[in-house]
Amino acid sequence: MSELADDYLDSHYIHRSNWLRAAVLGANDGILSTASIAIGVAAASDFREPVILATVAGLVAGALSMAAGEYVSVSSQTDIETADIERERKELEEMPEIELQRLAEIYEKRGLKKQTALTVAKELTEKDALAAHVRDELGINEISQANPIQAALASGAAFTAGGVLPLLVALFLPFEHLEYYLYGSAILFLIILGGLAAKTGGSSVKRAVIRITFWGTVAMGLTALVGYLFNVNV
Ligand SMILES: [Zn+2]
Repeated sequence: MSELADDYLDSHYIHRSNWLRAAVLGANDGILSTASIAIGVAAASDFREPVILATVAGLVAGALSMAAGEYVSVSSQTDIETADIERERKELEEMPEIELQRLAEIYEKRGLKKQTALTVAKELTEKDALAAHVRDELGINEISQANPIQAALASGAAFTAGGVLPLLVALFLPFEHLEYYLYGSAILFLIILGGLAAKTGGSSVKRAVIRITFWGTVAMGLTALVGYLFNVNV
């Protein structure tokens, strides 16, 4: 397969794995924060209804705040990139010679000989000066440019997909010792997703599983403790 095809596949694999990792991490947040709320209320209450209510409220609030947070952070990233590109366009108009030198220096630093670097810079400038500077000087490429709405929807959906799991447990499993069912099922879901994210990202599955189990246990354990301490009969 040609080198170009390899690059094309690689860039698409990276794109896909970025999205998958973000979705898995979003779902992890959904599981952990929704399960923790459910466990905290289950530890404090003698009835299932308050647990369901708190779990649904936590799920909706969490999904909306994740989506809003993602929208704001991606939008401000896009704003910064758009302003940078605009400044670059101006610099290319006002001082094309200096910009050409700057581009050649970037290629030289990457290992090209001085003359080769200048030739490459000249040819790419002739083809599309702004594109060359945006990509090689500012480091902005299609992978880093996310769509804020798409990112917000993906993040909210991932959180919801994760958070629905503890809600189903709170709805259908026996109310007696519900905290343990919630904890056990949440840890199981977290291990599966954490392992998947590690595998997709090419990192150690074992370490990811130990990490998520430990922090998951700490988070859910502390909310259970708070619930027991309050022990409110609603
Ligand atoms: Zn430039």
